[in-house]
Amino acid sequence: MATAPLVRFAPSPTGFLHIGNARPALLNALYARRHGGKFLLRLDDTDRERSKQEFAEAVETDLAWLGIEPDLFFRQSDRTALYDAAAERLKQAGRLYACYETPEELERRRKRQLGRGQPPVYDRAALNLTEADRAALEAEGRRPHWRFLLDHRVVAWTDLVRGESHVDCASLSDPVLVRADGSYLYTLPSVVDDADVSVTHVIRGEDHVTNTGVQVQLFEALGAPVPVFGHHNLLTTAEGEGLSKRLGHLSLRSLREAGYEPASVRSLAVLTGSAEAVRAVDSLDELATLTDLAHLSRAPARFDPSELDSLNARLVHDMPVAEAGERLTAMGVPDDRAEQFWLAVRANLTRVTDAAEWWQVVTGPVTPVIHDPAFIAEAARLLPDDPFGPTTWKAWTDAVKAATGAKGKALFMPLRQALTGMDHGPDLSALLPLIGRERALERLRGA
Ligand code: GLU
Repeated sequence: MATAPLVRFAPSPTGFLHIGNARPALLNALYARRHGGKFLLRLDDTDRERSKQEFAEAVETDLAWLGIEPDLFFRQSDRTALYDAAAERLKQAGRLYACYETPEELERRRKRQLGRGQPPVYDRAALNLTEADRAALEAEGRRPHWRFLLDHRVVAWTDLVRGESHVDCASLSDPVLVRADGSYLYTLPSVVDDADVSVTHVIRGEDHVTNTGVQVQLFEALGAPVPVFGHHNLLTTAEGEGLSKRLGHLSLRSLREAGYEPASVRSLAVLTGSAEAVRAVDSLDELATLTDLAHLSRAPARFDPSELDSLNARLVHDMPVAEAGERLTAMGVPDDRAEQFWLAVRANLTRVTDAAEWWQVVTGPVTPVIHDPAFIAEAARLLPDDPFGPTTWKAWTDAVKAATGAKGKALFMPLRQALTGMDHGPDLSALLPLIGRERALERLRGA
């Protein structure tokens, strides 16, 4: 029997997750959901300078907000011993070699190669260093960085998204796995971890395709089974620009704080650039059934952040009061009026938080807008007695119409402006009972 899939999402905690990071997070989580697998959250925090605890904590909060509860969690900074052991094995096998070039030397060599029309690939000069050369360099105070000796061959795999794929490792520089200060770049720890916990499917952005060529060789060099790979297209802006953690305005936290529903963000992050139309999908299970990696587009997944508004509005227009409940309470809406209020306003909202504006209109103070005081005085005189209910608005406007002859917009707009101070808004037959007779009268009197 095939084992259940184990997928992972492996962000570096060097910034807040943005909507482009939500894509691999969700594609992994939905894959696990669809195939009865498990989801590992791994923090790739080997870059000690740039990794911050604040960002690490935010990753967990943001994933929870998206509806992703990892089954397993660890961080790479706790696992250095494993990487040291793997690096040692690679050294023993002659696959990890010490290099002493400074960045400036490498840059000079690169320029020379480019000048000669050669590809700027590391020339493996360090492989020719003798023991004595190395001792002399170390005596100068140089510390080695370590490169992985690639097999110059084509690495091929069947990609879950891209189908038959390959990377010609003969055209790559031997990658640096260990920095001169002994810290690890992402490449080796990722493979060691994936092998250690038997990750079965590595689903990540197509910016990692070349890494896959290298990492497949690393799995093999370490004698570990090679997982299945899937490289999804990346979310880009409408102009085709890639997203980066620096674009803080698309961070998941800013979208959350702006009042978007996680389901809108999920739908946009996953359905953009897929075979499915981008639409608001509320349930994770449904989103999982719509998410087939084999049907992702190969083109960049261009998205327009303003689509979030229309997706969100869709969700809010159908949202039951229970889902908005706590947020309504936080706006000061009392529990016994929450449902009535919610049903009155939800069709006018883009985000739940927009309801606060209408609650303010209900409770006041509002500045009535009155252009025709005589008309409004007549309307005030005709305002029905309590109790106000769903038919009050109709009864009232019928009476005002009969008395003044006004109809259509000329009838409704002055009443709306006097009652709410605005010329648009929720259906007044639902809003008027919430405003109530006393406040309505006050406003009609221009108070
Ligand atoms: N830390 C890497 C990144 O954020 C992980 C890539 C991978 O999934 O292997 O790009």
